[in-house]
Amino acid sequence: MSPGIPRKITLATTSLAGCFGCHMSLLDIDLVLLDLVDHVEILRSPLTDIKTFNRQVDVGLIEGGVCNDENLHVLREFRKNCNILVSVGECAIMGGLPALRNDVPLQECLSEAYLNGPTVSNPQHVIPHDPHLPKILDRIYPCHELVKVDVFLPGCPPPAKAFFELIASVLEGKNFQLSRAATRFD
Ligand code: SF4
Repeated sequence: MSPGIPRKITLATTSLAGCFGCHMSLLDIDLVLLDLVDHVEILRSPLTDIKTFNRQVDVGLIEGGVCNDENLHVLREFRKNCNILVSVGECAIMGGLPALRNDVPLQECLSEAYLNGPTVSNPQHVIPHDPHLPKILDRIYPCHELVKVDVFLPGCPPPAKAFFELIASVLEGKNFQLSRAATRFD
């Protein structure tokens, strides 16, 4: 990032069906974070514990795919409130590990988890159905199947360099293109 950039951008982040590893990678920018503090304001995010949007945000980072109706609500909220929506990591882009259940009917998954699994102890033989619980969808959906996604950051997780390049390109008003170094995982 060029020194002396006057602009400040706003950022929002969330984790849907993710493991927070992508958020950890974002924080792994290390000392560059100190440079970014002057240029980036993080609003709605688990990093700030701000849970609502109170204004339009420049960049929304989505970790994780969509596994329940609450995830879907949050994803739509991010799409509506973020100028640039970013699918971060393989779970958001392809469903990731949770998508292993996509070949198994939902009822079968629930029965295995709550009734028939080898470690299950459920004397009442009830699958949780409290109306306050998010409703599980028939399968895991990658984010771009449900809303328009503007940028994809591949990796599990994407390297810290990828986040930095994205933020720097938005600050500098350039079209974003990941460098080769940020898409190598060896
Ligand atoms: S892409 Fe990898 S690090 Fe990111 S949420 Fe999924 S499993 Fe975790």
